[in-house]
Amino acid sequence: MLSVDAALDRILTSLSTTTTTRVLLAEALGQILAEDIHATLTLPPEDVSAMDGYAVRADDVAHCPAYLTRVGESAAGHPWTGHVELGQAVRIFTGGYVPNGADTIIIQENVDAPSETNHTVITVREGAKKGRYIRPAGLDISAGALALAKGTLLSARSIGLAIAAGATSAVVSKPPRIGILSTGDELVLPGQTPGPGQIISSNAAFLSAFVTSSGAEAVDLGIAIDKPGAVSDAVIAATNLDMVITTGGASVGNHDYIVDELAEGEIDFWKIAMRPGKPLIWGKIGKIPLLGLPGNPVSTAVCALVFLAPAISKLGGGTYKQQIFNATITSDLPKNDQRQDYLRANMGVGDGGLTIVRPAQRQDSSMMATLANADAFIVRPPFDPPITAGDTVSILPMPRFF
Ligand code: AMP
Ligand code: MG
Repeated sequence: MLSVDAALDRILTSLSTTTTTRVLLAEALGQILAEDIHATLTLPPEDVSAMDGYAVRADDVAHCPAYLTRVGESAAGHPWTGHVELGQAVRIFTGGYVPNGADTIIIQENVDAPSETNHTVITVREGAKKGRYIRPAGLDISAGALALAKGTLLSARSIGLAIAAGATSAVVSKPPRIGILSTGDELVLPGQTPGPGQIISSNAAFLSAFVTSSGAEAVDLGIAIDKPGAVSDAVIAATNLDMVITTGGASVGNHDYIVDELAEGEIDFWKIAMRPGKPLIWGKIGKIPLLGLPGNPVSTAVCALVFLAPAISKLGGGTYKQQIFNATITSDLPKNDQRQDYLRANMGVGDGGLTIVRPAQRQDSSMMATLANADAFIVRPPFDPPITAGDTVSILPMPRFF
């Protein structure tokens, strides 16, 4: 059986990035940049004050107290255009341009000023080194410099930067269109009352939310019955899909048809060394890449996190790296077999602020409640030896919208 890493590698190498489109930055949250964004503005545009105080000449405050005459005011949006001469100071506020002639800001806490009017003589009680509290022009970014690189996920922060640097739109990869098809005669749609032997198809709702939160477009392909040809018919009827995900029908039961349906050469791999998620399928129907997830909801979810998230990222022109951390486990675990294990668990704070992790008692792959209440997976490599409480284990925290 293929390892998790090898399976992911095969999936990623066979996917190529979607075409690109220009969007307004205001509507680009979660999209992936397909072209660099360069600053067209310099930030700050001039030397500005980082504090409220007085703009002075450092030489004038080398010995304190120093007595200076206030000659003007420079506030954000209201530059002072004169020249600061020896013995003079300009009242300045955060973001105000540093006037010509001045080279240092004295914070107002170190100044006695009898009034806020010009010609007032102020007393500087404590001087400062030349350049103190001045943000030089271009401290943040300079016109022409790279603001955001191709491949960046447009977060709230990166949109803020790009806007400040003068951009209003961006070239992004088109969000991939991901078809979601549930399979199984037992499935009914959410909102229906299940009859005998029936259950509500929850995997499609999970996957739709997962796909959307990964920055892609979820396309609902409904439910396919357990009959040869049903999956292909549904996929072929859909248009403009970049990938299709099926759930269920991937095992070796009499009612599991997906693998049989894929034509010669359409199956890349089936079954991997992973728990949950062994019967994962990777292949294609016609030209459409197909990721066949196991039907059990926890298997669907773990496979989505491990394979679908990176696949969507690749389609969308981004990169994706699972963030694995260390934590101290609170209970013993028996040795692992040949499958990489993903155990539902909860993180906590242990002695000295270190992360501890507690695996759920039962790990059955049908148990959605333990998944919903967990906040991390303990990841165990194949053939991991027995674990004792207090040992360090690898954990994969669950992302916010997972
Ligand atoms: P299968 O892989 O088709 O044998 O399905 C394995 C288990 O997952 C069965 O108990 C199914 O009823 C369940 N299952 C399959 N598809 C879904 C779905 N869309 N929503 C919830 N459970 C499902
Ligand atoms: Mg089934």
